[in-house]
Amino acid sequence: MAETDEPMLVDGDAGSTSDWDDRWNHIKKFLERSGPFMHPDFEPSTESLQFMLETCKILVIGAGGLGCELLKNLALSGFRNIHVVDMDNIDVSNLNRQFLFRAKDVGRPKADVAADFINSRVPGCCVIPYFKKIQDLDETFYRQFHIIVCGLDSIVARRWMNGMLLSLLVYEDGVLDPSSIIPLIDGGTEGFKGNARVILPGMTACIDCTLELYPPQINFPMCTIASMPRLPEHCIEYVRILQWPKEMPFGDDMALDGDDPEHIQWVYQKSLERAAEFSITGVTYRLTQGVVKRIIPAVASTNAAIAAACATEVFKIASSAYLPLNNYMVFNDVDGLYTYTFEAERKENCSACSQVPSDLHFSPSSKLQEVLDYLTESTSLQMKSPAITTTMDGKNKTLYLQSVASIEQRTRPNLTKTLKELGLADGQELAVADVTTPQTVLFKLCFTS
Ligand SMILES: [Zn+2]
Repeated sequence: MAETDEPMLVDGDAGSTSDWDDRWNHIKKFLERSGPFMHPDFEPSTESLQFMLETCKILVIGAGGLGCELLKNLALSGFRNIHVVDMDNIDVSNLNRQFLFRAKDVGRPKADVAADFINSRVPGCCVIPYFKKIQDLDETFYRQFHIIVCGLDSIVARRWMNGMLLSLLVYEDGVLDPSSIIPLIDGGTEGFKGNARVILPGMTACIDCTLELYPPQINFPMCTIASMPRLPEHCIEYVRILQWPKEMPFGDDMALDGDDPEHIQWVYQKSLERAAEFSITGVTYRLTQGVVKRIIPAVASTNAAIAAACATEVFKIASSAYLPLNNYMVFNDVDGLYTYTFEAERKENCSACSQVPSDLHFSPSSKLQEVLDYLTESTSLQMKSPAITTTMDGKNKTLYLQSVASIEQRTRPNLTKTLKELGLADGQELAVADVTTPQTVLFKLCFTS
C-alpha cells in the first residue's frame, strides 16, 4: 500500500500501518458502546471494526453519480477492501456531481480514476477497479464479496446482477444455505426521486419480484400532444412525433438525431411556434434536447442522500450492529422532503427467485409470436429479446432466437406457427434466455382450451 507523507499520520498499534490514534473514533461510537437502536443480539466490541478494516470485501457496481458518493462514504467508514466495476468513460457533463473526476480525466475510465482518487486520498484504503461490463465477470468473481452495492442507472443491469446473486445460492434438499447469500444493496435515482433497498437473495423480495414498480417509459397521451398541450414538453413532443416525419426538414428518411445541433435547433424553433399558439412558456434549447434524448437531469443532492442510505446499510450489515432496512425506502425531494419505507414482499411465482417454473397459459392454437409478446410486454417479466428453446425427443430445439442474425432468420417462420404446429405439448418446459438475467428462465406451458 502506498503511504502518503501527510504529517498527521502516526503509526497506530492496531497492526494497521496507516491508522493514527483517533482515526476511527467516529465509527467506534457505533460499534464499541451500546445504544437504543442496536441489534438485540449485538455485543459491543472491537471485533466489528477489525472485520470492516481488515476482512470485509465490498463490491461497488457503478462509478457514476451514486458510485462516487458510495466509494467516498465506504472508504471513510472504514472499508478498505473495495472493488468497483464500471464500463463507462468520463464525460465532461459528469463533472458537476461525479466529484472524484477532474477535467483532465475526461475520456478515461470512471472505475480507474475513481479508484486512484480514493486510494491516494484515504490512507490504507485499497480500491480495485474493473473497466468492464458486469456481464464480463463471472460467478467466481462475484462469489468473493461479502456485500454488493449497486449504483446503476439501468434496470436491465440491475436485473442481471440480481439474477447472478440468485444463481450463487445453494439449496440443500430445498433448504437455502444461508452462507451462500450475498446481500445486495441497491440504490437508484431519477431526478429528485430515489430509492434504496436491501435484498437478501432467496430470502427477501428480489428486483424481479417488484418489477411492476418500474413502469415502462412514461409517454404523454397522444391526444394531449396533438390537441391540448399544457406543458412545454407537449409542444416538443408534437414536433418530434408529428411534425418531423411530415415535413422531413433534412430530406427523406433522415431520422431525428438528438446529437445533431441542427436537428435540435429545428425542433426547438418549431416547438417555440407551437408553444406560442397555446400561450405556453418554457420551451428552451436545453429542454428540447432533454425531451428528444429522453434525458432525466441527474440531481447531485438526490444521489448524495441515496448513496448515504446505501452506505449506511452496508455498514449495518457488515458490522451486524444494527438491523438493516426492511427493505425498501423511497425518497422524494421534488417539493420539500419525503421518505417512506415499506416491506416489499416476495412474489410467490417470481420468475427469478421462486425456484419453480412459472406457468405460461396459452391455447394450442396461439402463435409463438403471442408467447414472445407476452414475455416482453408482461409487466412482471419485461424481457428485452427473449430466446426460446425447448427439449423435443431428447434434443434441444431453438424455437426463436433474435440475437444471432442467421438463427433469427432460420427461426423467424416459427413465430407465425401455432404452438400445436410446433409440436409443443401441454406441460412442456420452455427455457428462455434474455439479457435481463445470466441464467435461463424456465417456464411451463399450460394449455388452455
Ligand atoms: Zn424474486
